[in-house]
Amino acid sequence: MEKQTIQPFLTVANYHLLEQQMNKILHTLSTTKDKNVILAVRDLVDSEITTKLSLSTVEVKLIEPLFAVTDRAQGEAFLEQLKPYVIPFKPVTVNTLKSLFKKEKKLKLPKLEEMDFQQICYLAWDDPGTHRKYVVIEQDEQLKAIKGIFANKTISGVCAICNRHSDVGLFTTSVKGQVVGTFTNFSNYICADSQTCNKHVSDMDRTHAFFERVTQK
Ligand SMILES: [Zn+2]
Repeated sequence: MEKQTIQPFLTVANYHLLEQQMNKILHTLSTTKDKNVILAVRDLVDSEITTKLSLSTVEVKLIEPLFAVTDRAQGEAFLEQLKPYVIPFKPVTVNTLKSLFKKEKKLKLPKLEEMDFQQICYLAWDDPGTHRKYVVIEQDEQLKAIKGIFANKTISGVCAICNRHSDVGLFTTSVKGQVVGTFTNFSNYICADSQTCNKHVSDMDRTHAFFERVTQK
């Protein structure tokens, strides 16, 4: 049989969605033996995936093993075989970041080589010395960047980027106003740990909405 080449079709957020849905199934299997409950959860997962991802027939075939997963090891194997189909975050270099933050005199750069671009929906890093947090996202094939001050104190709350319950801290960004010399500040609670936050993101629309909110004049 001729082997069909399938191009990467999952965004990182799609991949996280599948991981979260798989965890939902595994959690159900570990808490109940009731076949109807298990079936109902699988149905819910199926409709969640169908609603959020538009997949071709061959792509659906690749996702199908998810519904047969019965333990963690199988789950990990399922996720592993999906990795070649994940579209990584747009490649960036040190120079890309420098130009995105060109007004920043002492820009502290992240260790790009340590980042797994197949696991991040957005790029973020901290400058612990100045409490600054830098965030870069891709929207409509363009990179957008914001920086802000991340307050040290964390509380338990809902993150404005991933919309999940987490250890969050106040992130304050500032946008130049219409009138020269004026600024509008935006403060939002976001995950203290951006890597964890990335793993939570399963719907980029919300993440984009956050960016729109804090960059509007
Ligand atoms: Zn978050």
